[in-house]
Formats: sequence, structure tokens, C-alpha cells
Amino acid sequence: MNRVLVTGGAGFIGSHLCERLLEQDHEVVCMDNLITGDMKNIEHLFGRDGFKFVKQDVTNFIHVPGKLDAILHFASPASPIDYLQIPIQTLKVGALGTHKVLGLAKDKGARVLLASTSEVYGDPLEHPQSESYWGNVNPIGPRGVYDEAKRFAEAMVMAYHRFHHLDTRIVRIFNTYGPRMRAEDGRVVPNFILQALDGKDLTVYGDGSQTRSFCFVDDLVTGILSCLEKGDHDPVNLGNPNEFTILEFAKHVISITGSSSGIVNRPLPEDDPKVRKPDISHAGKLLNWKPVVTLEEGLSKTIEYFKKLER
Ligand code: UDP
Repeated sequence: MNRVLVTGGAGFIGSHLCERLLEQDHEVVCMDNLITGDMKNIEHLFGRDGFKFVKQDVTNFIHVPGKLDAILHFASPASPIDYLQIPIQTLKVGALGTHKVLGLAKDKGARVLLASTSEVYGDPLEHPQSESYWGNVNPIGPRGVYDEAKRFAEAMVMAYHRFHHLDTRIVRIFNTYGPRMRAEDGRVVPNFILQALDGKDLTVYGDGSQTRSFCFVDDLVTGILSCLEKGDHDPVNLGNPNEFTILEFAKHVISITGSSSGIVNRPLPEDDPKVRKPDISHAGKLLNWKPVVTLEEGLSKTIEYFKKLER
């Protein structure tokens, strides 16, 4: 049994990680400052053996008493509207927060896994994106605060690996969806599902020809934990290569919810990547991992979650 710190543990992906780690009989220290995380995501974990919650901002000095075998660094705003509303916190948690996490890992002799992102590829000129691609990022655009913080975080992790011989992992996470996404976080999956459930028109930004590839959170969590266990220090893409245009995706959500909603077009946000699809062949070879949940199955579970959500 291991003792694992999950930063951002009350967030969407963080809370699923805490849950899976507890199921595997690990001890979990869940840390979150609750800026974008939510206690509701973890309230069912209180009282379970080995679960502990600490309300803290990882940007400041972190003290965790006792041993730690691994740290999963998932604390960060992760939605384009967050980057506009809390840009400084986004930069700080990716840069200063990652530094604090690495310092703690060095002190505890713990393995560290950084939640990086497909955003390191920016508006990609290579398609699909493999780990060898260096990206096409606008450093001063509205998404730059997230993209550059995560690129800095990757550089910092590699520096600690090379200089301090820390045992490190970097996962580049592509669009992920599932229960516990924030209803109001502005991302396409909660927006479309809630609009469809409420009978409102689905807001397709631009002409909807931009593409994304959506991975269900359970598949992602399996990939993350197998990277923690079996991976190495090189970055690994984790995502589902099943690619759709956003317009196709909107029609899909309307059909699967049986909604009478229509579609309206809204302006495309600045620097919105035109295409995104992971090349996951590296994860396949290294971890023997690939997503198994179909879009129908994953969307149905997510729709059920949003139907029951108190709003
Ligand atoms: N999008 C959209 N309507 C919405 C929300 C998002 O058409 O109500 C588009 C957005 O412009 C982008 C894609 O859906 O092309 C995915 O957006 P999201 O915010 O989920 O994440 P991103 O992949 O851009 O980080």
C-alpha cells in the first residue's frame, strides 16, 4: 500500500483519481484550494479508510507530515473561461505550484506525475499530435497563461529529473469528459449537455469545423495510474483518438439526449485550436493502454450526472 498526494484532488479528474486510488487500497492525501475544485466531488470519500483532505494552495509552501510514495500534480484551472477569469492563479499553480510539488517530492523521495496537457501543442501544425511535436503556442494570447505554465511545468519536471534524479512522469492529457465536470466551466461537454437537457440551442463556436477527440474520465484514470506505475520520464499522450468536428459533436449530443434543441453559432474564441487528436501509439507500447469506453457509453453516464445535478 502506498501513500499518495493528489493536488487538485477535489477537481474533476483529481476526484476520480482519489476514488480509484482508495479502491486500490492506497492512502490518499487530497489537497485543493477549492478555487475550481468542489467539496461535493469528494464528500463521498470522507470516512473511507485512508482518505484525508487538506485545504491548501499548492502555490505556497507545502507541508505534508509523514511519508509520501507518490505525488499526482493535478491542481490547475483547466477551462478556457478560467484562463480569462483567473489568469494569474493559472500561471502561478503551473509554475510556482509545480516547483513546490517537486521540492516536496525531493524531500520525501516520492515519485511525481505531472498533469500536462495537449495545450502544450497549441494550435497544432502537425496532426495527429505525437509527443515528438514541439507545438505552436501563442505565448501572449488568452490561453498562453495555461499553455505556457504547463510548458514551464514540463521543463521544471525534466530539470528535477536530470539534476536531482527525481523519479518523474509527464502525462499530456487531451480533452476528457465525465461526471463531476463543472456545470458552469464553459467547456463544450457540459455546455452542450446542459443546453440539450434544458431545450436551449447548442452554442457552436465558429462554424463548428474545429475538431476535438473526447476521452471518458475512467479510461484516462486507468492510463494515468498505469503511467505512474509503468511509465518513464518521457511525456506520454493520454486521450481518445476518436475525432469529431464540434458541429458533429453537437448533433450527437442532441440525438443521444433526444432533445428538441437547435444549434446557434457564436464567435470563435481567440486562438481556439483548429484540430486536436492524440497519437497514442507511445502509450500503447509503453503502458499497453488504450481507451475502451465508447462515446455513447461515456456520454450516457455524463448526461445522467448532469440530469441529477442540483443547479
Ligand atoms: N465550444 C463550442 N461551444 C461551447 C463551448 C466550446 O463550440 O459552448 C468549442 C470550442 O470553441 C472548442 C471546442 O468546443 O473549439 C472545445 O472547447 P472546450 O472549451 O471544451 O476545450 P478546449 O479543447 O478548447 O480546451
